Amino acid sequence: MPSPHRRPFFLLREELERLLDALRGSGHVCIGPQVREGAIVYDRLDTSVELPHGWSDRQSPGEYRLHRTGSPRCFAWASGPQALKPLSFAPEEVLWRALRDPDGGLRFNAVEPPAPSLAVIGVKACDLAALAMLDRHFAGDAPYQARRGGLLLLGVDCHHPAATCFCRSTGDGPALTGGYHIGMTELDEGFLLWSSGDTGEEILASLTLPEASETQLERANQALEAASLGQTRRLPGPEPGRILFDSLDHPAWSRLAERCLSCGNCTAVCPTCFCHDPVSEPALDGHESPQVRRWDSCFNEGHSLLHGRAVRGEIKLRYRQWLTHKLAGWQAQFGRSGCVGCGRCIAWCPAGIDLIEALKSIAEGRL
Ligand code: SF4
Ligand code: SF4
Repeated sequence: MPSPHRRPFFLLREELERLLDALRGSGHVCIGPQVREGAIVYDRLDTSVELPHGWSDRQSPGEYRLHRTGSPRCFAWASGPQALKPLSFAPEEVLWRALRDPDGGLRFNAVEPPAPSLAVIGVKACDLAALAMLDRHFAGDAPYQARRGGLLLLGVDCHHPAATCFCRSTGDGPALTGGYHIGMTELDEGFLLWSSGDTGEEILASLTLPEASETQLERANQALEAASLGQTRRLPGPEPGRILFDSLDHPAWSRLAERCLSCGNCTAVCPTCFCHDPVSEPALDGHESPQVRRWDSCFNEGHSLLHGRAVRGEIKLRYRQWLTHKLAGWQAQFGRSGCVGCGRCIAWCPAGIDLIEALKSIAEGRL
């Protein structure tokens, strides 16, 4: 919710299309959550009808299921498998090309990164926090910055955390805290809207909306409070990562490795994982060689190749690398843990491995 000194505007549910029109009018293509193949994912949004009205989700270790609610709400769900990551850090893109001239000389051409103007509606606080972390990691990266610069973000307070969520304990949700241009809270009858910065303010001003009522503000705050208190899962201890560097030989790593398939699902869905692989793909005629950047995972054996040998040949070492880097290594790198508590790695792990239970098994009461 916005500063208590500034009352949000109110938009009737039936008028949601007006907001999308204003976003398009500001030169953006709208992107929004939609039901695709049994999950809620972001995709191009041509009309507000495509939003997941009346859908919610149930999540637990190794499980994600959608169900109908009968409610008119369209943001009554917790994080689906996809965060904002693909919109700023492309799963695959050509960074530059080596070209052979007819006289045999070589040229190296940078590829101009695409910079679409996208207005993303319905972004939860955990994903905004994750985006802020990617921003730091990719600070000097032209393709990332080009995509990132085109994003206009409409955050929404999360009233429906899943059983796998623990953003309250990482300090990243469920209320919006920053990183958005326009903030939203959903009520049955419509939306509270407020701006953060000039761009959001201009868009909202163009809608000439009434202010939200005192009762609507109270209901919004109560829903947020209930969502926060409803989160029972939490990271143990004030500094859970601290214990990991002292526990590299703990037998629990082997027990976790017996379950882990090393499939990399957890890293693909994690909004802060940024491992990637540079690949040269020379054409058969030898005249061109694009340099491609692809998402990679520390769970892939090849990701740790050094002089042809995998440094982390065993799954135990790869799982240990992931959890230790995420919760401990990031503290030194970025001054905070790399986990925003979205719970995706728990729901989308086919073996049902739970990051929090894994941490507890290694810490054994020391946190
Ligand atoms: S922890 Fe789960 S999702 Fe991650 S690599 Fe292992 S089996 Fe796959
Ligand atoms: S480690 Fe798991 S819970 Fe934490 S941000 Fe990544 S996917 Fe979400």
